[in-house]
Amino acid sequence: MTQHVFQTEVQQLLHLMIHSLYSEREIFLRELISNASDACDKLRFQSLTNSALLRGDETLRVDVLPQAEEKLLVIQDNGVGMTEAEAVEHLGTIAKSGTKAFLGSLGEDQKSNANLIGQFGVGFYSAFMVADRIVVESRAASVDSDHGVRWESTGDGNFVTETITRAQRGTTITLHLKDDAKDFLEGWRLRELIKKYSDYVAYPVRLPKHLTDEEKKKGASADLEQVNAGQALWTRPKDGITDDQYKEFYKSACKQWDEPATRLHFSVEGTLSFTALLFVPGQKPMDLFDRDRRGLGLYVRRVFVMDDCRDLLPEYLRFVRGVVDSDDLPLNVSREILQQQDTVAKLRKQLVKRILDHLQKLGSSNEEEEKKAFAAIDANFGPVLREGLVSDFENRERLARVVRYRSTAAPADAPDQKTGLEDYVRRMPEGQKAIYFITAPSLDAAKSSPHLEGFKKKGYEVLFMTDQVDEWVAQHLHEFDKRPLASVAKGVDDLASDEDKKALEESTKTYGGFLGFCKEALADDVSDVRLSNRLTDSPCCLVGEEHGMTPQMEELMRRMGQDMPKQKRILELNAQHPLVEKLQALHASGSEASRLKEYIAVMRDQAVLAEGGRIADPAAFARRVQALLVGAVDSPPQTAKAGG
Ligand code: ADP
Repeated sequence: MTQHVFQTEVQQLLHLMIHSLYSEREIFLRELISNASDACDKLRFQSLTNSALLRGDETLRVDVLPQAEEKLLVIQDNGVGMTEAEAVEHLGTIAKSGTKAFLGSLGEDQKSNANLIGQFGVGFYSAFMVADRIVVESRAASVDSDHGVRWESTGDGNFVTETITRAQRGTTITLHLKDDAKDFLEGWRLRELIKKYSDYVAYPVRLPKHLTDEEKKKGASADLEQVNAGQALWTRPKDGITDDQYKEFYKSACKQWDEPATRLHFSVEGTLSFTALLFVPGQKPMDLFDRDRRGLGLYVRRVFVMDDCRDLLPEYLRFVRGVVDSDDLPLNVSREILQQQDTVAKLRKQLVKRILDHLQKLGSSNEEEEKKAFAAIDANFGPVLREGLVSDFENRERLARVVRYRSTAAPADAPDQKTGLEDYVRRMPEGQKAIYFITAPSLDAAKSSPHLEGFKKKGYEVLFMTDQVDEWVAQHLHEFDKRPLASVAKGVDDLASDEDKKALEESTKTYGGFLGFCKEALADDVSDVRLSNRLTDSPCCLVGEEHGMTPQMEELMRRMGQDMPKQKRILELNAQHPLVEKLQALHASGSEASRLKEYIAVMRDQAVLAEGGRIADPAAFARRVQALLVGAVDSPPQTAKAGG
């Protein structure tokens, strides 16, 4: 007999299980039946290439056997089983990185909060909610009867394993039920739970037949009977499936704990034949940023082939969960072979198209429920979806109809209301040439950026792109519906009328000397200094070259280890602003150059601050502002002079 210690995260999880009074602890049965069904799936798949594995016991099944007198509940399958090493690994650690990370992040008081259980997949360990001792006996299909394993634990820090002789293949889990969990011995209760949670399971789930008192007296032993419908849900016609059945399938087959935001169930027949049942989760999965994760199970003609099938979905749809059942793939595909299959590429193409079309439809629906569902999807997965605008050239236009942004057009009473590009285009006033956007490190920075001023005045809507991924998107999405996308922080001159342009030329003549002076003073960090039409309230702003990088992008690249030369931008001045007017007058009067240079440096830095950026030398900025304040405090306030 060997003693083992549970991995720390498992101990935390068990602590949660044992010490919380989770009202839905009945789900333990779903978890165990689901594991048993997975074990049958795996064996069926392996037997395709090694039929000897099934020999002698061909009908895969899951039996649920209550033993009332001993207060035992036994769940038994004849699936693939486990070796001792597998039992130690699978029933002593948590493989899922998301769950691990989540548990690690919990504080002590949170750990006693029962509601947390509902937030992540707990699988096998959930049985400790109803049992104070669990014994697992198993034998892998690939080994002989001398190599069985017995695993046992009371859910404290340890478990023990030992090698046993076991004639039958598969796994028997014996739960020693807690006193307050005896209702799980009742036949009707178990039947109800199996129907509720495991009806779709593709293998027979059996219970002992109900015996009359008379029969019991006679000592009759009950035969087993199948309780579940036993047909894969996705193979049934859509109109025969209830919402609840879909939801249960989502929870048990996709191992999710939330309610799906939307689902998509369809079959395709023709040169490519397959059925897909897909869900978008209602909450962010914990492994959302695990880029290798794909939540799709692959079946071939109803036979389970693999979980987490990477080749069927692009990275930016990694949050989709569900199953795909292909009629065309060979049954014995491995992950490696899968990549080379033409069929897989075609399947993937279809899936992506269907998912995006579905989301697009959802997003343009006027139905309250659907609007809500779409808003949740956008809030949870919007940034992930937008990655696709960079990576999936083929579907860029399709995807562009799904993404949403906040914008200057949001009504005052709903400032967070988002808009899609289609609606933006519909609202464009005559004469507006491009779809305008601003990228900024935060929404507040975007909203108060001086770059917006001229666009607001013109009545042109500007989209706020404030997520890190949007910086990338802005580099790739050049066009939508044949209209160019343009950053308001770059050299656009659509704003000015011919008259404006003329006026600007005139002012430039007056300001010429001053502009030249500024350019020289700031030669190290701006490429040009010029007058601008885009400002109304602010004295100045920085704008990029047409194809230049934004400072945020520059920063991103640098953080990714790229050696980035500093990009110089253009400083644009507002000739109507009193500060600019005064500085130019000061320059014209032949004022001391060094003082003027200090003022100009402050002006440049506050342009950076106004767009939410980081100034290069904050200490120098602080020193200059202090000097200005000292000057201001020393001299009598101007208003006092004027007012008398
Ligand atoms: P999950 O099922 O989400 O992977 P669990 O904690 O429920 O997590 O189970 C952990 C692992 O233990 C499973 O992935 C599987 O490898 C193994 N396991 C659990 N139950 C069985 C079973 N009845 N037969 C074979 N293996 C099992």
